[in-house]
Amino acid sequence: MRTLTPDFADEVAIVTGGSSGIGRAVARAFGEAGATVLVADVREEPKVDGESTPTHELIREYGGEAEFVETDVSEPSAVEAVVEAARDYGGVSVMVNNAGVHRNLRFLDVEPEEFDRVLGVNARGVYFGTQAAARDMLDRQEPGVVVNTASTTSRVAEWTHSHYAASKGAVEMITRSAALELAPEGIRVNAVAPGPVATEITEGWSERAGEMEPDDEEPSLPLRAGTPDELPGAYLYLASDLASYVTGETVWVDGGAHVN
Ligand code: NAD
Repeated sequence: MRTLTPDFADEVAIVTGGSSGIGRAVARAFGEAGATVLVADVREEPKVDGESTPTHELIREYGGEAEFVETDVSEPSAVEAVVEAARDYGGVSVMVNNAGVHRNLRFLDVEPEEFDRVLGVNARGVYFGTQAAARDMLDRQEPGVVVNTASTTSRVAEWTHSHYAASKGAVEMITRSAALELAPEGIRVNAVAPGPVATEITEGWSERAGEMEPDDEEPSLPLRAGTPDELPGAYLYLASDLASYVTGETVWVDGGAHVN
């Protein structure tokens, strides 16, 4: 009988963008659930107020196994390298494509370089992260799961988020398209869409956005802003056997921000 408690013992999870914010909370949760965790990020140090211990060291402190692998997800060969590194631990079984960037800009002010930077991390990183993990799983004949980080802005337009929203809309369709083509291979691909969560990416966000938006552009938020620790449950669920019949889905963990 399947257990209701996700257990990732003997599994290897790669979490991109795992040094800070949501990725850090997700990486810790997989570590606590028994997975070996590879934290794949452009920087090792967390950018979290009052915290200096890198995520992989934190996981080791409570007896888990974890490594940091310097990775720029906008470069497909770097993502392939971290997937290759996971083979030393048995091979990736859970790929969390979470790294993301954003800078508030009005639609009329987004230059091609900034568009490419944001799409390069948020969309290209997810596309080739999913592809690299799936190719490796197929090579090893060990199907696993992919969980991508989308956003409320995957479906809801917000002032100063047009380029970011384009990248996050892409995350939803990359997730669905990959889910379709990888289902026959036994690989499930899903997404989690966070709403406003206080992290480095949102630091100063509302002040900056406030300067650029009309006064009546308060985002609608039925519940409230979230914390990084409110996100990992959805990732653990989607990566576990509890979600064995779920693929191509986006789980909204956004305080209801997407509903209106
Ligand atoms: P964060 O800035 O705290 O963390 C992002 C992490 O990604 C950082 O550790 C950063 O170093 C890393 N990163 C940036 N560029 C990278 C690259 N090229 N390669 C590898 N790593 C890179 O932000 P967060 O809020 O934790 O964001 C995590 C994910 O959640 C992102 O995809 C973001 O778009 C998404 N998200 C966040 C919110 C929110 O309100 N915080 C809302 C919706 C979606």
